[in-house]
Amino acid sequence: MTSGGVPPTPLPGKKRRIGVLTSGGDAPGMNGAVRAIVRMAIHYECEAFAIYEGYDGLVKGGDLIRPMAWEDVRGFLSEGGTLIGTARCKEFMQRPGRLQAARNLISKGIDALIVIGGDGSLTGADVFRAEWPGLLEELVSSSQLSEQDVEPFKHLNIVGLVGSIDNDLSMTDATIGCYTSLTRICEAVDSVDTTATSHQRAFIIEVMGRHCGWLALMAGVATGADFIFIPENPCQETWAEDLCATVQKHRKLGKRKTIVIIAEGAIDEKLNKITPNMVKDILSNQAKLDTRVTTLGHVQRGGTPCAYDRMLATLQGVDAVKAVLECTPDKPSPVICIVENKICRRPLVEAVAQTKEVAVAINNKDFEKAMHLRDAEFQEYYNAYKITTAADQPHLMLPPEKRMRIGIIHVGAPAGGMNAATRAAVAYCFARGHTPVALYNGFPGLIRHHSDKPLGAVRDIAWAEAESWSSKGGSEIGTNRGLPSEDLETVAYVFSTYNIQALFVVGGFEAFTAVSELRKGREHYKAFKIPMVILPATISNNVPGTEYSIGSDTCLNALIQYCDACRQSASASRRRVFVIETQGGKSGYIATLAGLCIGALAVYTPEEGINIKMLDHDIDHLRNVFLRDRGQNRAGKIILVNEQASKVYSVQIIADMIAEAGKGKFESRHGVPGHFQQGTTPSPMDRVRAVRFGVRSLQHLESFAGKSRSEIAEDPLSTAVIGIQGAKVLFSPMEVVEKHHTDWPARRPLNEFWMDLKEVVNTLSGRPPLKQGS
Ligand code: ATP
Repeated sequence: MTSGGVPPTPLPGKKRRIGVLTSGGDAPGMNGAVRAIVRMAIHYECEAFAIYEGYDGLVKGGDLIRPMAWEDVRGFLSEGGTLIGTARCKEFMQRPGRLQAARNLISKGIDALIVIGGDGSLTGADVFRAEWPGLLEELVSSSQLSEQDVEPFKHLNIVGLVGSIDNDLSMTDATIGCYTSLTRICEAVDSVDTTATSHQRAFIIEVMGRHCGWLALMAGVATGADFIFIPENPCQETWAEDLCATVQKHRKLGKRKTIVIIAEGAIDEKLNKITPNMVKDILSNQAKLDTRVTTLGHVQRGGTPCAYDRMLATLQGVDAVKAVLECTPDKPSPVICIVENKICRRPLVEAVAQTKEVAVAINNKDFEKAMHLRDAEFQEYYNAYKITTAADQPHLMLPPEKRMRIGIIHVGAPAGGMNAATRAAVAYCFARGHTPVALYNGFPGLIRHHSDKPLGAVRDIAWAEAESWSSKGGSEIGTNRGLPSEDLETVAYVFSTYNIQALFVVGGFEAFTAVSELRKGREHYKAFKIPMVILPATISNNVPGTEYSIGSDTCLNALIQYCDACRQSASASRRRVFVIETQGGKSGYIATLAGLCIGALAVYTPEEGINIKMLDHDIDHLRNVFLRDRGQNRAGKIILVNEQASKVYSVQIIADMIAEAGKGKFESRHGVPGHFQQGTTPSPMDRVRAVRFGVRSLQHLESFAGKSRSEIAEDPLSTAVIGIQGAKVLFSPMEVVEKHHTDWPARRPLNEFWMDLKEVVNTLSGRPPLKQGS
């Protein structure tokens, strides 16, 4: 995730006072945002104030508006809900309440306000800012404050952060909290899935979202649900027939269970409400299925935030403070958003207005507009969902001459989402008339099995076989680190024998290397003159051509779980430092991002290495931290060390050095989570992105259908890597990425987008800067 811009330098003279409040429904990650805002404000020599209980605190003032110190937000990152409280405040909806709020802000000397909440809260913020000059005038004319009192507060800076579980704000791909909520939903669906399969039952799961179907759509994509109901794209009035037809088709193809996900605000195209019980009656009476309803309710509020929400909240909190410091009276108030992997600012008024338009468009039955007003990602996920649940829809089928035999292969270590990508690819093939062909156990499997028993390693995949793979970890078709160069000739022979006309490769750096070898092998082997796409899948996230590999989010979630547990275990002894080794090969991505998510004291990466001065510096810092400690360190400190950060300093040696220096004042332990980092069930983010990128990859391969081998070989994009780059999802030609963006000896991209984030980790943990030359 990238956060744009150079940090502003601290303002000379007057200390700015920045207030932060959380409002509306609580959302996991709000605390991480408050922590980042408080610490970043202090870092920029401003004063930070928390306004407790949302706008209620702003209206009531007094002790509900309190200065915050660095230590006050310790431990916030891993806590769910909002520790500074939230409320729905009627008084703030009326001008007299806002007048009172203005008076309270001025009396505390606060001239900038960061509001974390949903569209209602941001609307309130916008109304407040628009009214601000009038409120000041009234405070003076009613003699509540003097001209001199209000003079320094002529301009109120407002910055919005979107904290909301249902991801309902336009102009941002994600809101703080939505992925944690999705995680809880997917856990629930995965749980009922097993019982549904056992009893061949149907389950209807109702999820939150009155005007927004994001949770229902994403849960549908992540779990491979049979049918979804969302408000933005309602089904026809005859939905009961469509539902029964889809469900029965899936049953005929071999599915033993039926999962239907319905958003709270589900309607048909005539705006008639659709309830879970209506769906239940249809499935029970017409489809004759044993059907149950599960309403998830407040479980979806989420609890402990997932890795993505901690990251998003932290980076957006950091950017919110920068935005406050960069704001001028002539600039519109911003809301901090994210597009793909890039943190960006959008005008708050426009984002709120566009969000409200969605509900209006739905009420006007202009569903095309409603879909259009959601972000581009939403539409793409919807299309991906539709096509991957569409088995056997004649209108989607390509003409026979455009249908291909598409090989699917996994290369490298397993990563969460590999199976979801494969399931999506298989489902896409069935929808379009292609034949999905599994190449089992990577290239060595293909080479070895071919010589042993020719048919073993290559097999067409049936729709029903892959249908249950959405939520499965590991690799169902087997994966292997071996490369085609072990025996290029046999690989070419197998490709020709089984008439492989396109190749979908899912894997990490080895997959990248493998496709590079096949591309170069085209000179000698015609069989390789086929389109090939790599979908990066590795926990290390070190594939050139992308900022995100599927599996890396699952890994981060596993790591934060491990670190949270270590930290908590230190709550009795308090003064304990954990030195934890992360995987990641020669890329410090996982260590750094995990550091961001858990608030690590320091992160050691292979890019930077470890030296004695660095250790000495951090041990000194630890001494200071524990010296200052008056019992606020309720849990341990964590240092994350990438497995290849140093050939000399292992986590055990570092932990021993710290313990030795602690002289009984603090102690140290080391931990190696090892393969635990691959996670068990893939995270929803890895699953949904696997589906989306899987479908895109197949569409890319399909675009070569009907072309001659030489035409294909001449097109640089005929071997490509799909990836996120900043705010875009792109296919990059392998040859260009290999030559210009790859650090081959270090097996990582030449430019690693996340390098600046190390500075954020250091700043927010209070780690003093290393002196030059250390
Ligand atoms: P969620 O997405 O969880 O519902 P939200 O921020 O949309 O969060 P709301 O209840 O709509 O939640 O709004 C929270 C608070 O924001 C309200 O209780 C009110 O104090 C304030 N607010 C909302 N709309 C306005 C408005 N038009 N004018 C002034 N204040 C408002």
